[in-house]
Amino acid sequence: MTNEADVIVVGGGPGGMAAALEAANNGSSVILLEADTQIGGNAARSTGYLAFQNFDMQTQEGIDDSAKIFVQDMAAEISRQTEKYGITFDEELAWLFSEESSDTYSWLCDLGFEFNRFLPRPKQHSVNRMVDVKDTAMFTYLFEKALTTAGVEVVTETRVRRLLVVNDSVAGVQTNTDTYIANRGVLLATGGYQANPEIRIKYQPEVMASTPYLGTKHDVGDGHIMGQAVGGDLINMTMIPPLIMVGSALVEESIAVNLEGERFHDEAGPYDYRVDQLAKQRDRLAWYIFDDRAFRNKKQLIDEMPEEPISAHTLEELAGKLGCDGHGLNTCVDEWNSLVASTETKDPKFGRVIFPDPRIGILEQPFHASRMVVGLNFPAGGFRVSGDMQVLNVYGEPIQNLFAVGDCTGGLGPVIGMGGMRITPALTLGRIAGRKIATGTNFKETRQGDVSKIPENQMRIPVVDEAD
Ligand SMILES: Cc1cc2nc3c(=O)[nH]c(=O)nc-3n(C[C@H](O)[C@H](O)[C@H](O)COP(=O)(O)OP(=O)(O)OC[C@H]3O[C@@H](n4cnc5c(N)ncnc54)[C@H](O)[C@@H]3O)c2cc1C
Repeated sequence: MTNEADVIVVGGGPGGMAAALEAANNGSSVILLEADTQIGGNAARSTGYLAFQNFDMQTQEGIDDSAKIFVQDMAAEISRQTEKYGITFDEELAWLFSEESSDTYSWLCDLGFEFNRFLPRPKQHSVNRMVDVKDTAMFTYLFEKALTTAGVEVVTETRVRRLLVVNDSVAGVQTNTDTYIANRGVLLATGGYQANPEIRIKYQPEVMASTPYLGTKHDVGDGHIMGQAVGGDLINMTMIPPLIMVGSALVEESIAVNLEGERFHDEAGPYDYRVDQLAKQRDRLAWYIFDDRAFRNKKQLIDEMPEEPISAHTLEELAGKLGCDGHGLNTCVDEWNSLVASTETKDPKFGRVIFPDPRIGILEQPFHASRMVVGLNFPAGGFRVSGDMQVLNVYGEPIQNLFAVGDCTGGLGPVIGMGGMRITPALTLGRIAGRKIATGTNFKETRQGDVSKIPENQMRIPVVDEAD
């Protein structure tokens, strides 16, 4: 069967959904092909932390932020990561994203999105700019509604396998049974390659290539393979940062203890810092401890963790099951509960600034422990793209009619560790791609000001101070 539209979007995560909606609202006919039974991608399975600058919530709290400060924070994060990885950072994309992120916030609000509060992350974002969506299911149901209204044809349970190329230009896509013709462009938004150990082993050591991952099983690098097959240049592929397999919304309610029954780090600190701190504990063993209230409220996140939690009626009994020091665990939970009940905004021991919301401690029996397991959620690597999200080939030339956004792209990937820096860029740059494919308008021509560069002498010193 052959189908035809102006724009074919492959993958219905935040990048693909935003691009499809923007293209349709700019007059294009759009078909969105999604391998899963519904759209939403990893955003619907995420913690829902999103970072923007210069948006309503910041204005209401009198927070002074700008695209420049945001890009400076990204540059600081990059300089921190260059010690571990070979990185190609696309500063132009960083500017595009940060400048447009304000509009993305208003655009999401117009779609019906609601946000809870700021998540303070002074170590990665120098001002409060990361907020959490009220319910990550919004990524599915609000976009389903908006895409339907805009006339986008969403085809689920349809895995795209190949790109069609005619006269050096991408002309459509193929599934195992059907062909879809794209008159104006194909957009790859298939997410990352986390769920594919065969791709991971090409870029990371064997011992790491099969560590667990919490997201959708459909992110197997199909977009990376299809784009590569037509000459797309992949960058940052070796940056596959390990992290502890736990939803940040569960961390908010938990403390982590080691075999001594003691806390040992800022549980909500940078992802790589948490991995390093776990490695320093005896037998590399530690657990998130939370109470039954958190267990009930965060059941979905707990079910997604690599191991079943261990539960017990009392903390002593729990310590016995874990083989950790019962007295230590009791003291530690008491200290945490006092801190949470106080008005302190920073944990004096490890500098933690993220507390449960509302501020309720670990009180309700039975108590639960989930082991800290190292895995990955988001690799950084993907295609090198132009400022219009057009995929570049290995010579730096645009591949005609082929675009990519989100985890399929690599230039902004290395800022992963800041927090909230995957979904917002996917949405924001997805909108830019959708507009470009539909209208042919170069985004830079339509916005005020030039894509700026930060002078070397204004780059910030890396902000992370792990010992505070
Ligand atoms: C547990 C977890 C928590 C996270 N928390 C956060 C967070 O709080 N903040 C943040 O910014 N980021 C977070 N992330 C990362 C974020 O969810 C992703 O980076 C983001 O969703 C990427 O968007 P995307 O559109 O590129 O791809 P995805 O969201 O991965 O969506 C890709 C879509 O493409 C589909 N697909 C794949 N292959 C094909 C194919 N061949 N044909 C058709 N369809 C295909 C998939 O089914 C999927 O729906 C989290 C990720 C995980 C796993």
